[in-house]
Parts: sequence; C-alpha cells; structure tokens
Amino acid sequence: MLPDGLKNVKGLLLDLNGVFYVANRTLPGAQEAIAALQRSGFPYRYVTNNTTQSTDSMSLSLQEMGLSVEPSQIMTAAYAAVLHLRQMDNPKIYPLITDDAKQDFAEFTWSDTDADVIVIGDIGDDWNYRLMNRAFRLVMKGAQMIALHRGKYWQWEAGIQLDIGAFVTGLEYATDQTAIIAGKPNPFFYKMALGDLGLAAADVAMIGDDIEADVKGAQNIGLKGVLAKTGKYRPELIVKAEASPDEEITGIGAIADWFS
Ligand SMILES: [Mg+2]
Repeated sequence: MLPDGLKNVKGLLLDLNGVFYVANRTLPGAQEAIAALQRSGFPYRYVTNNTTQSTDSMSLSLQEMGLSVEPSQIMTAAYAAVLHLRQMDNPKIYPLITDDAKQDFAEFTWSDTDADVIVIGDIGDDWNYRLMNRAFRLVMKGAQMIALHRGKYWQWEAGIQLDIGAFVTGLEYATDQTAIIAGKPNPFFYKMALGDLGLAAADVAMIGDDIEADVKGAQNIGLKGVLAKTGKYRPELIVKAEASPDEEITGIGAIADWFS
C-alpha cells in the first residue's frame, strides 16, 4: 500500500543514478523494486540527467547490472534537448558530449567551427582549456548553449565528483549568455515525462536522491517528491534546501513494500 503522503498517486517517475545504483553497483533492493514496479500495474518511467551514454547503451549497462530497464522506459535530458533542437530551423550543433551520447543527436549536422548551438553534457576527464575556449568562442560568435543539466556533483564509489554545472556556469559567466537547461529540474523535462505517462502532475510521484533537481524540481510543477536517502543524499542538504519531501525512503527497496 502506498504511504499516506502519496495516496492518490497513480504513476511514478524514478531517478536512476544514486537510487538504483552507484558507480556500477546496484543498491540494495533495486531488483526487488523493479520487480514490484513490473507487477504494480502503475505506469512508470526512469528520468535521468545521466548524459554519458545513449539511451540504448544505458539500458544495456543497467541490464548488465541485473536491472531490467528497457530503452523505451528511459527519458533522458538528451532526449529533451533533441526536442528543443527539433523546434529550431535545422540547427548546426557542436556536441560537447561523449561519442556514445552523440548517437542520440545523429539527426543534426555537427560543426565545431560555425555551430548554431552548443550541446553540453558529461565528458568526464576530457574537460580542458582548449574545449572550453572553443565553446566560449562559438558562443561569442552567436551560438546558443543547451546544457543537458546543471548538476553540481554526483556520487561515485570514491566519493563525490564535480559535475558539469561548474563548466556551464563558467561559460555563462564569460559570455554573459544563459544556457537552456534540458534535463531535471526543467519543467519542460518533467512535462515531457508526464505526457509519456499520460497522467497529470498531481497523480504522479518522483523518486530521487537529489533534493533540488528531483524533489523540489518535481514539487514545483505539482508532482509529489520522494527523497531516496541514498547516493548523494546528505542530511545537511535537506536543511540547506529548505525542502520538505512528501515522503522519504531509506532505499529504493522500500517501494517493494508499497506493491506487495
Ligand atoms: Mg540521482
């Protein structure tokens, strides 16, 4: 049975990284949670700002970890960016993302000299002055910036890792331009996921480990926000964010009890 804070909820959106796995390890209860979701009859989607992989690669990696997640169940920040780009007039893009993630942008023309739009995602250790300077010059020549997200940091085995928000904000600072943010907590991203579920915001709960992007971002447009106390969760962040999740769970395995 659903907890009191979530009664009337008819569908779920679920963060992946920090909720179902950290680094390449599944978190306790992740497989049980997926089994419960599958038998629940609830519509659900995974919504992720993870941008190092294409949707197909992501699904494969998850299945290798023992998590049964189909590509069609994953909604990524990259897909939201593609929808933005399709609304533009055949833009040339400079994809500042991994080669794998570039597959999701195959329908567009790429250029690193006269791009109309820079698409910024996670490139891990490949960030350097040369790339930042190229992006800076393109924006100064008039290119727009679409950042797949603006994450501050994320949880890896060895500790927290700097995320791309610092690079996006650096480019904004130097160019006096503002990036469009494609992924969570952009309302457009959540609305896209709701459209896919076919449900209204008030009928859906979002579960994630990021108090800002997952919990507050979802609550801001009328979804319920459920905080998973795993991944990057730290008690002091809740105080700082002045957030009040509708529910808190100690781990994703808790949702197996909701549907037992
Ligand atoms: Mg997360």
